[in-house]
Amino acid sequence: MTYWSSSRRDFLKAVAGLALTGNSLAGTRGPLQRPVLIVGGGLAGLAVLDALQAAGRPALLFEASARLGGRILTLRDGLQPGLRAEAGGEQVMQNHQRVRRLAGDLRIPLIDYPLLEGDLLFRHRGRMLRFRLPSDLPADLTDGLSALEKTQWPHRLHLAYTEHAEPLADDDPRSALQWLRDLGLSRRGETFVRAFAAVDPERTSAAHFQRIARREAAGGNSQVLAGGSDRLTEALAARHAQSIRRNTPIRTVVIGEHSATLLDADGVAHVADRVVLALPLGPLLRLDYRPGQPRWLARWDEARVVAHELKVHAQVDPQEFAALGIRPHIMGFEFPRMTWLLPERSANGKALLSAAAVNRQLARLQEARLRGVQAMDRVLRQRLPLLRSLEVRTRGEDWMSNPLIGGAYTYVPAGSRGPSPALREGPLVLAGADFSAYPGWMEGALQSAEVAVSEILRA
Ligand SMILES: Cc1cc2nc3c(=O)[nH]c(=O)nc-3n(C[C@H](O)[C@H](O)[C@H](O)COP(=O)(O)OP(=O)(O)OC[C@H]3O[C@@H](n4cnc5c(N)ncnc54)[C@H](O)[C@@H]3O)c2cc1C
Repeated sequence: MTYWSSSRRDFLKAVAGLALTGNSLAGTRGPLQRPVLIVGGGLAGLAVLDALQAAGRPALLFEASARLGGRILTLRDGLQPGLRAEAGGEQVMQNHQRVRRLAGDLRIPLIDYPLLEGDLLFRHRGRMLRFRLPSDLPADLTDGLSALEKTQWPHRLHLAYTEHAEPLADDDPRSALQWLRDLGLSRRGETFVRAFAAVDPERTSAAHFQRIARREAAGGNSQVLAGGSDRLTEALAARHAQSIRRNTPIRTVVIGEHSATLLDADGVAHVADRVVLALPLGPLLRLDYRPGQPRWLARWDEARVVAHELKVHAQVDPQEFAALGIRPHIMGFEFPRMTWLLPERSANGKALLSAAAVNRQLARLQEARLRGVQAMDRVLRQRLPLLRSLEVRTRGEDWMSNPLIGGAYTYVPAGSRGPSPALREGPLVLAGADFSAYPGWMEGALQSAEVAVSEILRA
């Protein structure tokens, strides 16, 4: 039997269990409020639990796995002391007020995203050069650059042009390089763009390149949670340990008029007046609904759940990269991508992992996209001579095949996104980043939790 299948036998066992415990499938309101049941211990589910408890409303959360946090996953094992890798949620953008508030509440400081911090190590005419400001650049390096280009670090030249340009139409026939030349990119600037853009500007469409560069520019303003993103979920979980059941996958949801019954993998039934399904779309669609699927699920029949970003990270000796003249920045906006290994203190810019060149090559490996972390590891080993002698670790989760996640992002048909009252049906309330105005972000998980909790408290 696969993890997700549920049999008639399970159902009958559960119904028998209900009879024994005196619960009925229809359920009735007792004198005491029954706990709200929450399915899913990712950030959304934990935030719902936290807010309900704060409002004095009893709640109980079921998490399928032993680990809480879902798509927030910070890796530390096997890395050099003080380093960590984020395999899931990491960047907190300026407008992510909910994450910022929660971090403040939990006393977790935010530190600047280290992507654009630190010195730039660059190999030029056989010399290793170190830059901090554009004015540090030696004259023989800036000769031939335009005035605009001289205001930028060489590795940011493509951003300089992107920032000044109007948005491009998706069907613009030009390559990125042609577009940059049309904007005035100098011959010397071209060398830098080729060397430092996250994708090959000749083989990337202008519009796609512009989108990537804009995200890169935006990333420069973002922050991360000091010590790791999982501090958010760990702190929430610690606050409510008594109200969390780990290793309890829910398989079946029996929907009554005023109550719902959850059947877990052992066939145990849990009854509540309100059930919050705080799940990504994949697992949500895999639940077995009785007597039938809620109406709102049909809205997402066309959805494709994909592992949009797969993270592979390599732990390498910084000396080896330094010897190769690779700058200590990791460009991560094209996938497949390297995961950032963040020193606990990033402010000095001495990130230990320096893999820009590796990542640039990775970005060209179109065929490796979306094939999973293992495939990327194979390709890395075969195709990147640079890495042959280095230890490459493939870790983190293969989000695509994990049945609890089913992909990092969910693409849904236009027009069917966004929180709406329709997401509540009878006793069921939906939460989770996938159903928020910020899909693919931790902010979305919190926003969805806010909507779900206000729905419950209002009723
Ligand atoms: C690779 C990657 C990179 C990302 N980068 C960023 C970023 O830089 N910044 C950012 O803000 N966000 C980022 N995100 C997105 C962010 O991590 C997610 O939006 C957010 O964590 C989702 O939280 P959630 O609670 O909605 O869902 P999830 O975290 O997926 O939680 C769902 C939980 O439900 C559990 N579950 C599933 N099925 C069942 C069941 N049947 N019964 C019980 N439990 C079940 C799962 O085990 C999981 O714990 C990234 C995500 C990924 C994967």
